[in-house]
Amino acid sequence: MNVAIFSHPDCLEHKNGSLHPDQPGRINAIFDQLIASGIDPFLVHQQAPYADDEAVTRAHCPHYLDALRTNIPTEGIVPLDGDTALSPGSLDAALRAAGAGVAGVDWVMQGENRAAFGAVRPPGHHAGPDQPAGFCLLNNIAIAARHAQAVHQIKRIAIIDFDVHHGDGTEAIVGGDEQILFCSVFQHPFYPFTGAEEPCTNCLPVPLPAATRGSQWREAIKAAWFAKLAEFAPQLILISAGFDGHLEDDMGQLGLIEDDYVWLTEQLRNQALKSANGRMVSLLEGGYHPGALGRSVTAHLKCLLAI
Ligand SMILES: [Zn+2]
Repeated sequence: MNVAIFSHPDCLEHKNGSLHPDQPGRINAIFDQLIASGIDPFLVHQQAPYADDEAVTRAHCPHYLDALRTNIPTEGIVPLDGDTALSPGSLDAALRAAGAGVAGVDWVMQGENRAAFGAVRPPGHHAGPDQPAGFCLLNNIAIAARHAQAVHQIKRIAIIDFDVHHGDGTEAIVGGDEQILFCSVFQHPFYPFTGAEEPCTNCLPVPLPAATRGSQWREAIKAAWFAKLAEFAPQLILISAGFDGHLEDDMGQLGLIEDDYVWLTEQLRNQALKSANGRMVSLLEGGYHPGALGRSVTAHLKCLLAI
């Protein structure tokens, strides 16, 4: 598999304050580990472009994008809610993060057996059509999905979200769209306390209690998703890749390790090879323990590369 990694230095310029879990150093931790592990030379390095307004407003209300632009401070940090903040570099970072998804889709559509990963921040899956939430400003994965539909006429997209938190913003944007199958596995009950009850018709939620370990996580995913994914036969697989369910990450209370992420990545790669010409685009969501994050992303990318 040819694997491209999209990132940009602007993604380091979104600042939440020194006590916030989403620190710029998360991106550095990923690149450091990719180099240390020896897989960096196998990756195609790409700069994430800005997502343009047309791409962003396929998933968000135009007035929300206008409000984000207007509220960017010239200095300091402006809190939007208890978790989410804006700094002078936040809009550029968010547009690069969304642009990684858009460019990632374009890249995988240019050939067979191509996958892309966005090493970007801020994350996106809590951002709804007209609101920021949970560290997220723009919903990167939903913007990528809408771009694939509008520009590449993809009729069946699977979005897989394995972040420890439910992707409530993604469900708010793509819920009910029968051309998208939204598969999410998350700790429940836990922030944002959604997803488990009355899921949308195109959603396959797997809510799991705190202290769930990898073996139970795998069994639950297998039972809930794989037959339906095979039947749906996605032409493109998008991944909201959050690594905050890792055992060493105290953001959540799941007990996952690198091998669990490898197992799921391998299943998804096999499905992509069957129905999607191998096309997969994975975008970073959570993952707040720098060491566990670097090792988990490296394992995820090694599996995509099949080396
Ligand atoms: Zn998360």
